[in-house]
Amino acid sequence: KKVTRGLLLGRMQPVHNGHIQIIEKTLNYVDEVVIGIGSAQLSHELKDPFTAGERIMMLTQALDDYDIDPKRYYIIPIEDINRNALWVAQVKMLTPPFSKVYSGNPLVKRLFKEEGYETYQPELFDREVLSGTEIRYRILNDGDWKSLVPKATIEVIDEIDGVNRIKELSRKEISEK
Ligand code: NAD
Repeated sequence: KKVTRGLLLGRMQPVHNGHIQIIEKTLNYVDEVVIGIGSAQLSHELKDPFTAGERIMMLTQALDDYDIDPKRYYIIPIEDINRNALWVAQVKMLTPPFSKVYSGNPLVKRLFKEEGYETYQPELFDREVLSGTEIRYRILNDGDWKSLVPKATIEVIDEIDGVNRIKELSRKEISEK
């Protein structure tokens, strides 16, 4: 039987419970998921605080904690390029072949559809709170962010002193204004 692969893409700043749910859900429809970590070149910015390597650590450990078979996924960092019309080729160059694309991002869906891919809109889980923006806001303001992310994300953020990283980035940007 031919193996079917689906692509999932996300900046994952940081990995949260919505990402884990969408990965689990997608594995009901395809044999393997190709997980692209988007904007891999970015880190140490308020909107993109974590390096690609740190995001890979969060995701690898979380998927292991959720007992997802490591033979069923690939985690691949993907840098942005400043030519949207060439971006699908960039993704293809870096990933195993896939035929379906699962994304809630309208630009991502549009670019892949134009290249002939089947695109699917994944169901959103608690999107008001399960979003990277909300989680980064809560980290910065000492809110409850830990209930929104897997244990692995908490551990990596702890290991790299991520809370202070975000707080210091915000101070710098404010004083520069
Ligand atoms: P994201 O982290 O916001 O979302 C990742 C995926 O998870 C999305 O499909 C989203 O629908 C899903 N998701 C998020 N929260 C969820 C929830 N609560 N429940 C269920 N699903 C949830 O990432 P994104 O913005 O879609 O990432 C796209 C990446 O592709 C970015 O890094 C972007 O820079 C990159 N990109 C680059 C180019 C270029 O370089 N020219 C062009 C297009 C996209």
